[in-house]
Amino acid sequence: MIEVVSLRKSFGDVPALTDITFKVEKGQIVGFLGANGAGKTTTMDILCGCIGADSGTARIAGFEISENPIEVKKRIGYLPDEPPLHKEMKVEEFLLYVGQLHGLTKAKSKQRVHELMERLEITDMRNRLIGHLSKGYKQRVGLAHALVHDPDVLILDEPTEGLDPNQIVQIRELIKSLRGQHTILFSSHILSEVESVCDQIVIVDHGRVVEQGTHQQLVSRLESGRQYQLRVRQGASTLVEKLKSLPALSSLALDPENEQTISFRTSDQDQVLDRVAQEVLSGGHGLQELAVKSKKLEDVFFQLTH
Ligand code: ATP
Repeated sequence: MIEVVSLRKSFGDVPALTDITFKVEKGQIVGFLGANGAGKTTTMDILCGCIGADSGTARIAGFEISENPIEVKKRIGYLPDEPPLHKEMKVEEFLLYVGQLHGLTKAKSKQRVHELMERLEITDMRNRLIGHLSKGYKQRVGLAHALVHDPDVLILDEPTEGLDPNQIVQIRELIKSLRGQHTILFSSHILSEVESVCDQIVIVDHGRVVEQGTHQQLVSRLESGRQYQLRVRQGASTLVEKLKSLPALSSLALDPENEQTISFRTSDQDQVLDRVAQEVLSGGHGLQELAVKSKKLEDVFFQLTH
């Protein structure tokens, strides 16, 4: 549904995008994850036809953006970091106006706006001036604005930025509830958010896509051997010294936060785990736990962007 190949964009001598390539399948929620200045907004602005790329191609539902901007705009809903809301208009009045700008008949626009206001829980605010709404409600109106014409693709630029914790949860739940009906590209620099909301993750760094996959795929692709956690009853520091003689272990260390706990990494699990267990038993250390320690998205992100 979204296909981007080798996008490049500079602002004067500032290279914002150097190689953005990724794909989003129909119905997926994809997290576009990157630090400040990584190139997320620039990519989204290009996808929505707000700015042009210097080179590369971007297709939405098969339409190349620079060749068919009108067809693309019909199929896309955009919630930019500053939603384009008319502060002096009332919520319902504004949404009806947006519906008509998209070419919906008055009746169709009314039906759609009422559906969306119910769904986004803003019906009670329909006669309020947009300028008087809280940030969370403005964000919901922005989301309704992006959804009025029932677009195939929804592009959301940091939709939870600046919201309080309750509003963040509500907006995330709203986005999750749109899964399957729209293809969603959703930018964030909050790793836990991307992890909880998205089916796929695209990691962007210094204007380049450095990885794409599910959370699990990203983690396992970057694991050089599995990391294990070993907890014993006593003598963990002596045990670490003994385990140093095992050649297939790496990153062997006492865990500073958990007493009597050792972490290590190995890719040769069958052979090595037996040897580790023998050392624990023969030394009388008392085996309490030997478990795989799963890697978090934070580790993956840090590894890819440093
Ligand atoms: P953030 O998370 O802070 O919003 P981002 O990943 O969205 O960051 P972009 O806003 O796309 O990053 O910016 C990418 C790079 O391009 C940055 O170095 C930024 O300073 C630069 N940039 C973006 N827009 C312009 C502009 N209009 N003029 C000059 N430089 C720009």
